[in-house]
Amino acid sequence: IPVDTFDLVIFGGTGDLARRKILPGLYRRFVAGQMPEDARIIGAARSDLDDAGFRDMVGDAIAEFMPGQSKTDKTVKQFLSRLHYTAIDARGEAGWSNLAKLVRKDVVSAFYFSVGPGLFGDLASRLQKHGIAQENARIVVEKPFGRDLASAKELNGALAASFEEHQIYRIDHYLGKETVQNLMAVRFANVLFEPLWNAQYIDHVQITVAETVGVGGRGGYYDKSGAMRDMVQNHLMQLLCLTAMEPPARFEPDAVRDEKLKVIRALDPVEADDIVRGQYVADENGPSYVEDAENQDSLTESYIAMKVKLSNWRWNGTPFYLRTGKRLKARMSEIVVHFKETPHSIFDEDAGSHANVLSIRLQPDEGIDLRVTIKEPGPGGMRLVDVPLDMTFADALGPEAEDIPDAYERLIMDVIRGNQTLFMRGDEVEAAWAWTDPIIAAWKARGDRPKPYEPGTTGPEDALMMMHREHRRWREIK
Ligand code: NAD
Repeated sequence: IPVDTFDLVIFGGTGDLARRKILPGLYRRFVAGQMPEDARIIGAARSDLDDAGFRDMVGDAIAEFMPGQSKTDKTVKQFLSRLHYTAIDARGEAGWSNLAKLVRKDVVSAFYFSVGPGLFGDLASRLQKHGIAQENARIVVEKPFGRDLASAKELNGALAASFEEHQIYRIDHYLGKETVQNLMAVRFANVLFEPLWNAQYIDHVQITVAETVGVGGRGGYYDKSGAMRDMVQNHLMQLLCLTAMEPPARFEPDAVRDEKLKVIRALDPVEADDIVRGQYVADENGPSYVEDAENQDSLTESYIAMKVKLSNWRWNGTPFYLRTGKRLKARMSEIVVHFKETPHSIFDEDAGSHANVLSIRLQPDEGIDLRVTIKEPGPGGMRLVDVPLDMTFADALGPEAEDIPDAYERLIMDVIRGNQTLFMRGDEVEAAWAWTDPIIAAWKARGDRPKPYEPGTTGPEDALMMMHREHRRWREIK
C-alpha cells in the first residue's frame, strides 16, 4: 500500500549507513510500488555534490549492495531521478537556506539524522531556526543513543528543545525485523501461548545475538563502548521487553511502549557472579580484540553473557539469559523460550524427560519453531522424541514471504506513516541506561578483566559454567 507523499531528508546521506542500508532500502520500497510518484529523497551532508553527483553515488551504492542491480537499469534510473542533494554544515549556516527551499511544506516531511549523535542537537535546532520543520515533521535518530544515563538525558533534552516526543523516532532496527513483530502476533493473537507465558510454566528464556565478525575497522569506536553498551542496553533489551511485557490494551505506540517500560523498570540489578565478559584472542583468521581495538590494555568486552531477573508477578523465578559477542561460531540471533517439564511423567524413566521449546529466530533464516514431544514411531514401545513444528516463513507462506521488507525499509515507511510503535520512547532509553550504568560501574570499580575466548567458539568457558551451575545449557550457536 503506497504511503502519503513525502520529502525525506537524509542528513549524512553520503555516509556508510545511508549507502549500505537506508538508500538501498528505499530503492526496494520504490520497486515494491510503495513510494508515491512525487515523493522525494534529499541527501544533505558535508560533501560538495550536486543532484547528479549524489545520484551517481547512490547508483553505485545500489550496484554494490544489491546484487544484480546496475545504475543503468531503467528502474534504478527512475528511482535516482527522485533524489536531490544539498551540501550542508550541521554546525554552521552553510546550506540551510537551500534546504529550506527544497523541503515542501504541504507534504509529510521526515529528517533522518544519519550522523554522529554529537550533531543531533545542532540539526534539530537548525531545522527549527530556518523554519524547515513544520508542525507534523518527524526526525529519525540512529544508535548509539547516549553512552550512559547522563548523555542520553542530554540527547533527549537537545531533541526536546526543538521537537515533541511524538515527532521523534529513535531507531532500533531489531524492532523492524519481521520475526520480532511475529513474536507479538504469536503471543497476542493465539490463545495457546499466553496462559503459559509466565514463571509457572516457563523455566527460562535465552536471548542470543551472535556475530562472526570482529570489530576490525571500527575498533577505536567500539573500544569506548563494548558489548553491554553496543548490544545489550538497546537490542537485547528490546527483545527482552517484547518477550516479557504484559499484553498491551491495543497495538498502539504508547500502549506497547508503556508495557516495555514497565519491564525495564522491573529488572533487578545484576550480581557480579551472573555476568561473564569476554575478549576474543587472535587466530589464523584474524587479530585479537586488543589488536583490532589498537589498545593492548583494553578492558572492553567483545562478549557478554548474563543472567537477568525480573521482579514482578509474571516472572518471579524465571531467569532470562542474555548473550552476545563478536567472532563467535556462527551468525545467529534468536529468542528461545524453554518451558518446564510436565509436573509428573506417566511414562517409564527410559522414555526420557522432555520439555517444550519455542524459538523465535531473527537471523539467519527468520522463523518460529516449536518443539513438541511425541512418541517415537515404530514398535519399540513408548519412547518419546522431540520434533519441530516449524514455521519458516518462506516455506509456510510461499512467494509472499520472499518480499519481506528489510528492517530499515519497514521502519522508514513507519516514519512516513507516523507510526511510532516500533521506535523507542525517550523514557524507555533512559530507563535502560539507568539499569545498565551501575552494572558497568561495578565491573569498572572492581577492575574486572574480560576472559579470553577463541574465535569460532561459543565464547568463554565461564559462560558455559554459569549455565551448568544452574543445571541448564546454552542453545547451540549454529
Ligand atoms: P559516516 O562517517 O560514514 O557518515 C557520516 C555522514 O555525516 C557523512 O555523510 C558526512 O558528510 C556527514 N557529516 C559529518 N559531519 C557533518 C556536518 N558537520 N554537517 C553535515 N554533515 C556531516 O557514518 P555512518 O557509519 O553512516 O553513521 C551515521 C550514524 O549512524 C552514526 O550515528 C552511527 O553511529 C550510526 N550507525 C551506523 C551504522 C553503520 O552500519 N554504519 C549502524 C548503526 C548506526
